[in-house]
Amino acid sequence: MDTSPASRYPENLPRLEEEVIQARMLRELFARTRESALVGFLPVFLIVWSHWTAQPREQLLLWAGCAVLVLAFRVLLAHLFLVAPPQTQIGRGRLWFSLEWLGSIGLAGVWVGSITMVGTGQVDVLFFLRLIFIVALVAFVLSALGIEMRLYASFMTAIVAGTLWQLHRHYPVFVQELPVVNWAFVVYAIMLLVRSRGEHRRTREWVRARLTQRKLLDQLHQNIQKELHMHELLRNRTQELEASNRKLGELAIRDGLTGAFRRGHIEEELRRQVKAWERRPEDFSILLLDIDNFKRVNDDHGHPAGDEVLRRLVAQLPETLRGSDLYGRWGGEEFMVLLPGAALVQAVETAERLRLAIAALTFKDEADRRFCITVSIGVAHLEPGATADTLTERADKALYAAKHAGRNRVVAYEPGQTQFAPL
Ligand code: GH3
Ligand code: MG
Ligand code: MG
Repeated sequence: MDTSPASRYPENLPRLEEEVIQARMLRELFARTRESALVGFLPVFLIVWSHWTAQPREQLLLWAGCAVLVLAFRVLLAHLFLVAPPQTQIGRGRLWFSLEWLGSIGLAGVWVGSITMVGTGQVDVLFFLRLIFIVALVAFVLSALGIEMRLYASFMTAIVAGTLWQLHRHYPVFVQELPVVNWAFVVYAIMLLVRSRGEHRRTREWVRARLTQRKLLDQLHQNIQKELHMHELLRNRTQELEASNRKLGELAIRDGLTGAFRRGHIEEELRRQVKAWERRPEDFSILLLDIDNFKRVNDDHGHPAGDEVLRRLVAQLPETLRGSDLYGRWGGEEFMVLLPGAALVQAVETAERLRLAIAALTFKDEADRRFCITVSIGVAHLEPGATADTLTERADKALYAAKHAGRNRVVAYEPGQTQFAPL
């Protein structure tokens, strides 16, 4: 099984360039340098404090001054690097690196110097304290320098060689009595070297993973944006389609001139309501309305005036009817009205109201002549056993009777009404 780092990343991901990883590693180095250098001020303070009465002040302060300067240099350098724009970080990488190298060698010098500058020749508790400080500090500083092997090696060499040299020179008795200290420092250096290789590898992996993660997140974000955009488009298209479907549906059932339902639709509604009545019988009536002598209106005032009459008449219907009532154009100048819940008497009243409202309308033809119209209305109530066809037939008969009786009136169907005198 392939477990190399590259195989763990998605294949379609753009390959990370070595340069990008290096730049990130350098950033990481300076971030850790800033941290470790800041922490370094504490042991400087502790050493000065613990030696204050036991050692010559001038030497102590000279050493502390050097230590603070070196630490401040490293903190400032790291900080300036971190706040610099990325282009500058990459472009001046070599310069930054050289300065950091100087800083780390300076730091090594300061810690080695603490062995002799602070109370030369005395082997006591404080001396051991300084050695321990060096060991601890070196381990801590190396967590930053381990990112860059050249820095690491320089620092280690300076610290180990410098410390041993100082010990041999100023503390020969100590080294003679404790020869293991030579090996201890060398072994310590080797152990840290091994550890720093791991540190270097882990940081590289971590940087690579962070960069990969960011790229993946960017990709994910882009995909989500695309998806949202598509979703929005789709929603708009669906809304458009629904709107045009509704429009088409309306066009299919609405009469173009008046906007009333077409005959097919109102007929369908009638059948539906009659069927519903079979399950739940309640009052149901219909009206059949026909304009009186409409032919004459067309003849006298022109076809456009006739069309206007039809439009205005339909516009008048909802003014007089209830919201639940339905109406449609049955023929040329004939309209069917469905009155759910209306008993015959109520239906006749409604018809009468309609007749009066329509008679009150005034029209104007193209020659500016005013005229009015009247309508005849046949009313039929749904009785048990009747079908949509028989109900229509009865309303038609009543309408015929209204016409026969002289027009401009409402006639309700009466059972057995079959014969009418000729008009
Ligand atoms: P009645 O009182 O007996 O109903 O007489 P009428 O003249 O109204 O009846 P008839 O059926 O003889 O004439 C209906 C007229 O309606 C004939 C036709 O020109 C007219 N008409 C039908 N549809 C339209 C239309 O869409 N626009 C116009 N302007 N006239 C129409
Ligand atoms: Mg007519
Ligand atoms: Mg007619």
